Amino acid sequence: MVVVEEHGEVGNPACCAGIVGAKGFEELGIKPGRWVLGKLRRAVIYPPSNQPVELTRGKVEAFVIDRAEFDRSLAKEAARAGAIFLLKTRCVDLKLGREPILKLRGIEGGELSARLVVGADGPTSTVARSAGLLKSNRHLKCAQAEFVAETQADAAEVYFGRSFAPGFFGWLVQAGDVCRVGLGCAEGNPLQMLRSLVKKHPVVSKKLAGGQVLNVCVGIIPKPLSRRLCTDRVLLVGDAAGQVKPLTGGGVYIGLSCAKLAAEVATRALEAEPNEKALRPYARAVKDKFGREFELGLRARRAFERMSDEDLDTILGLLGRDDVKKLVLKNFDFDHHGRLIRSLVAKAPEILRELGLRRILKYTHYLVKP
Ligand SMILES: Cc1cc2nc3c(=O)[nH]c(=O)nc-3n(C[C@H](O)[C@H](O)[C@H](O)COP(=O)(O)OP(=O)(O)OC[C@H]3O[C@@H](n4cnc5c(N)ncnc54)[C@H](O)[C@@H]3O)c2cc1C
Repeated sequence: MVVVEEHGEVGNPACCAGIVGAKGFEELGIKPGRWVLGKLRRAVIYPPSNQPVELTRGKVEAFVIDRAEFDRSLAKEAARAGAIFLLKTRCVDLKLGREPILKLRGIEGGELSARLVVGADGPTSTVARSAGLLKSNRHLKCAQAEFVAETQADAAEVYFGRSFAPGFFGWLVQAGDVCRVGLGCAEGNPLQMLRSLVKKHPVVSKKLAGGQVLNVCVGIIPKPLSRRLCTDRVLLVGDAAGQVKPLTGGGVYIGLSCAKLAAEVATRALEAEPNEKALRPYARAVKDKFGREFELGLRARRAFERMSDEDLDTILGLLGRDDVKKLVLKNFDFDHHGRLIRSLVAKAPEILRELGLRRILKYTHYLVKP
């Protein structure tokens, strides 16, 4: 197996908050290593009015990881299993055929033919585009900075509000001796919005006041279900395949989980011809495991993206009510949001009475519309 990587070092540069569910790692058989920087037991939600609501079940729900170190640990395992790494080498094109040919630029320039190409080349995937697997290019824009500052070590702080993160949210989390602050937005310039979050947000600006910025990055999060997963002798995994949680954009667990499914199917397919028919079980396995999650999550996001700050305040404020908090904590799963969404929708009329019938109908409409 040959791995083509455009950068000089696996894992760098990384643009990721590094929050990954503990159960997800367990399911994947990945033991926490040196790359764990923190353990999260609590979420503190700040609605636009900034009256925080805390959610916790008292146990470790997620790890904050050093993403570059984590990726390098996986790369070392791949190298031990025989993978050859071509670093500082960029794939600029892919020609499909009986033996697909990758056009490379960089240290190992030239052409490389392969029996099977796995596009794991992130949200702007050259492989997805060249192989005609891109159905839509919709994505969220994100920006993140690392500060020398301290916040609550065991809590992920999540900030909502249209003026700071329209259509998504901001986050603040301790990652070892730095603090990561970032946001995603459906519209606008994410870097400008991050500057505004850090300097003007009434809570975030106080927490980060005087802290030195160590680095800033921008990135994008692809929309789930925006790409086909395979064609003759090509398959996609991770962000290249749009394999992220629709509500939070987290893609580390889902990408790895789908990569496992891809590896099983690819191994079988390579025993004969890895044509589309032989690779299709991969697309089916992903649909079986995550299809419903993607669909429900996208509908919930569609409703969420349309919420005014006033409505967000009412809805997120409900998390402070004992019955709603109990329902959320009972049904919450860090990596699978379907059960939580279904339980909230079932209780929507009762829980959301405060929103008024017209607005309940408006949001429920987005939730039920395919
Ligand atoms: C700001 C931000 C914060 C995030 N926070 C979280 C989080 O807390 N938890 C979480 O689970 N997810 C998070 N995500 C999402 C997560 O980072 C992605 O889902 C994850 O990185 C996807 O991994 P991947 O390997 O598929 O793609 P990538 O991490 O994008 O890796 C793709 C690799 O391919 C290489 N590459 C790309 N194109 C080429 C080419 N043409 N030729 C050669 N090499 C190429 C790149 O250099 C890179 O090494 C976040 C995303 C952003 C933007």
